[in-house]
Amino acid sequence: MKVLLANPRGFCAGVDRAIEIVERTLDMLESPVYVRHEVVHNRCVVEELRNKGAIFVEDLNEIPEGSVVIFSAHGVSRRVREDAKRRRLRVIDATCPLVTKVHLEVLKNHREGYETIMIGHRGHPEVDGTIGQYDTTSENTIFLVESPQDAERIQIRNPLKVAMVTQTTLSIDDTAEIIEILVARFPNIRRPKKDDICYATQNRQNTIKELVKVCDLILIVGSKNSSNSNRLHEIALKRGVDSYLIDTPEEISSHWLKGKQCVGLSAGASAPETLVQSVVLALKNYQATEIVEQVGVEEKITFRLPKELWDFTAKSTQSVSTK
Ligand code: SF4
Repeated sequence: MKVLLANPRGFCAGVDRAIEIVERTLDMLESPVYVRHEVVHNRCVVEELRNKGAIFVEDLNEIPEGSVVIFSAHGVSRRVREDAKRRRLRVIDATCPLVTKVHLEVLKNHREGYETIMIGHRGHPEVDGTIGQYDTTSENTIFLVESPQDAERIQIRNPLKVAMVTQTTLSIDDTAEIIEILVARFPNIRRPKKDDICYATQNRQNTIKELVKVCDLILIVGSKNSSNSNRLHEIALKRGVDSYLIDTPEEISSHWLKGKQCVGLSAGASAPETLVQSVVLALKNYQATEIVEQVGVEEKITFRLPKELWDFTAKSTQSVSTK
């Protein structure tokens, strides 16, 4: 059995940054560090950060007033920001800059009196955060479209003042189908200059489309709540190739590998390389004889850490040294 390692795979720049923010904050602050929602959607990463001292909460009300809170890479609504202010929380924002880009598009649409159609998955925190950039009391609004059927049905107040944005981790192909319907229905629809589906999502999906041509099994390392990991898994299934989404190598069943000649292995943008390597080791134990690293697009994107990280940590160091 041969194993082809997808490239690129695993951590993207937004996830790298979010994890570094939590780790640096834990290192530099003595006070408890709260994180609103899983900072990235990976069970192992979250467990590791929890073991280092991060306290994960879903609701800001669980955090004592005046504490430090980190917002997850998925971004938050305006209401969450206002709640944090009301509770005098000291916020360090780990929202991925590519999610912030979508928030800014939505805010511009809102300010200019446009209604916005967001393509995304209901209940995902990124979608809640992006939709939450609109003021719910205003006349113009933001709608969620999840499927081509939704796109066919949606009613807009003024088709001349409508815009669209997407969640950053969607399937490129499914989204293209929905966009086509929206553009046909609303030819003047305002679209972002640059795709909202981020570079990392696009690159990882493209690698799976290549791997399915030569592999008879695709394994994706990623958690069940990771949007972009699920999309990779779906691409393989939709093209008729067996595929499984796994958090750890222990989940691999020997039945999956029976008779397989070539296994493609990739990881969602929130899954660490250490997990990929532990899966490689497990596959070697299952008689994989050849491990081949695929040649792929080189990702050079990095994001700066947020300014408030230095502000808070500098203040904290000062107060420690003047005690
Ligand atoms: Fe940012 Fe894309 Fe990574 Fe999400 S998947 S954190 S949008 S780079």
